[in-house]
Amino acid sequence: MAKTYLLKGDVNRPGRISVEKGTTLRQIVEELGGGMANGKAFKAMQIGGPSGGLVTAEQLDLPLDAKALAPWGCRRGDGVITVFDEDRCMVMATSAFLRATQTDFCGKCISCREGTKRMAELMEKLETFDADEADAGMMLELGEIVHMTAFCALGKGSGSTLRVASEEFADDFQNHIDGACPLCAKETRPVIAAGDGVPYDSKQVRIDPDKCKGCSRCSRSCHAEAISGVLKSPYVIDQSKCVKCYTCIDLCAFGAIEEVTIDG
Ligand code: SF4
Ligand code: SF4
Ligand code: SF4
Repeated sequence: MAKTYLLKGDVNRPGRISVEKGTTLRQIVEELGGGMANGKAFKAMQIGGPSGGLVTAEQLDLPLDAKALAPWGCRRGDGVITVFDEDRCMVMATSAFLRATQTDFCGKCISCREGTKRMAELMEKLETFDADEADAGMMLELGEIVHMTAFCALGKGSGSTLRVASEEFADDFQNHIDGACPLCAKETRPVIAAGDGVPYDSKQVRIDPDKCKGCSRCSRSCHAEAISGVLKSPYVIDQSKCVKCYTCIDLCAFGAIEEVTIDG
């Protein structure tokens, strides 16, 4: 079944796209997005927003599939795909995603709440050329710690974009440590903001009562204690508690849980 994403950034036709199973990242840029804008070259693609991951041109022939893209930390996340061209500085891009963790994440667990806050602060320091090698190292270390200790996939994925960006675009990071970035010097466009795509609360994770077998597996795995029910009867999700970590969707062996976009 096709899934809806919001495609934004440096493509000719940004907007809502419907992605069929097996569609490659290259097809998303070139066909669904109408190609790179202004004839510039592709640099990177961020998939899934603040808890998602980043890929480079080397991964363009992979399908938009959580398993295939797992090594880069990509997940459906907030359903937004952001494309960056060759002139975008990945320090600025990554910082925008880390900033978004501060409003998108629920703040329930200390590891994610404090860890992502500190990561975002260090990233802003790097943006303004005030960070050194030790700050950059600490940011990456924090990403690892949050990945290991956060309750849910949102926090666990918060460092993925930073990790890939710092490895694959090390020059951008080094330029900011050294105090001068040629990309930022010539950039006149605003930074592509993260977290301003499909409104996060326009999506809900729901259980289809016709498919649910009442096995309780999802309920036992939901750290937010958002799922309740009686064995062998359909379970329900309390939307006021759900933080949309999507753990339950992956766990349900009956395909009874899905994310839906609600009107309004
Ligand atoms: S529950 Fe998830 S989103 Fe909320 S603070 Fe913890 S890791 Fe972050
Ligand atoms: S894991 Fe699936 S089948 Fe089991 S209770 Fe949850 S929704 Fe129902
Ligand atoms: S109901 Fe599902 S998506 Fe929502 S917090 Fe629980 S495990 Fe995560």
